Amino acid sequence: MGATRALLLAASQNRFLRERASRYAFVKKSVSRFMPGETLDDAIAAARKLKEQNIGTVLTHLGENISDHQEAEKVTSHYLQVLEKLHSENLETEISVKLTQLGLDLSPQLCEQQVRRLLDAENPGRTLWIDMEASGYVDATLDIYKNLLAKHPNTGICLQAYLHRTAADVDALLPMKPSIRLVKGAYAEPANVAMQSKNVIDVSYFALAQKLLRAQIGGDVRRAAFATHDAALIGRITDFAAAENIAKNQVEVQMLYGIQRAEQVRLANGGWRSGVLVAYGDYWYPWFMRRLAERPANLWFLVRNLAGN
Ligand SMILES: Cc1cc2nc3c(=O)[nH]c(=O)nc-3n(C[C@H](O)[C@H](O)[C@H](O)COP(=O)(O)OP(=O)(O)OC[C@H]3O[C@@H](n4cnc5c(N)ncnc54)[C@H](O)[C@@H]3O)c2cc1C
Repeated sequence: MGATRALLLAASQNRFLRERASRYAFVKKSVSRFMPGETLDDAIAAARKLKEQNIGTVLTHLGENISDHQEAEKVTSHYLQVLEKLHSENLETEISVKLTQLGLDLSPQLCEQQVRRLLDAENPGRTLWIDMEASGYVDATLDIYKNLLAKHPNTGICLQAYLHRTAADVDALLPMKPSIRLVKGAYAEPANVAMQSKNVIDVSYFALAQKLLRAQIGGDVRRAAFATHDAALIGRITDFAAAENIAKNQVEVQMLYGIQRAEQVRLANGGWRSGVLVAYGDYWYPWFMRRLAERPANLWFLVRNLAGN
């Protein structure tokens, strides 16, 4: 891992920095590149605009590692309102939740119950996605995911291609017909847990993508979504799909709001399924730091906005 990336990921966990950074206008301005705003209405307005371009959306309310039951309850209530609003406005927008924001650190049972309440309220035709967090949470997240799938086949899980274990996790999930959003992985992980070099991670990602696409066609995967901004990798995946005669609308690429916008539109116009994850909320600091770590050149926006203030 590069030194800058490691430093930014370490800073993402720092409470002192979080409390200070959130107050500075130049930081907020830089964050706005990746977020349409802090409120649900901002996120919904962005979803409407993206829909006009034939780009699907997934909303996520920023937050993680909550430390009391009331907070978990508050997050669940918020998402219930979100689902009600999305349904009443007839948006096909889905949601993606972080289990540590729904009480995983407090009690896996409580957390599972909260997700069940959301699934009971979600339209069964839409996927409710579960984010994957740092490696220490993977077992607990997968356990909850498997429990949920039995009653709610429309639950989706994020898997990280950088983890050595992920190929085996995919194999274990296939008999349950999962929905999988494949990412490279955003956290600082040691070498015994995760691959460290981009080339090796890309090889792992492409191998998993091929497997998921074939499994989707064979009926063992309900939905596969490739969440990456890596244009070269997306090109390899779409080429593979074309070579296997997989219909374009069976191949879904998801990106983060504000990143590779032209590529999002190009895919949608080309007939591929293009989606964007729109984050909102005021707890954006760790999330924003992970975006900087993914591309340290993004630090340049911070510097420019600081200079402009
Ligand atoms: C929809 C979605 C959901 C995600 N959910 C999770 C999750 O649940 N758990 C998890 O661990 N990770 C998640 N991630 C993050 C993911 O793991 C990666 O950290 C992130 O997508 C960067 O990797 P990449 O695949 O884009 O490839 P990279 O190799 O990192 O980047 C490829 C190229 O994409 C562009 N790019 C990538 N990131 C940025 C950026 N931040 N700003 C500007 N340009 C950029 C650059 O041009 C870069 O050269 C999610 C990502 C997406 C798109």
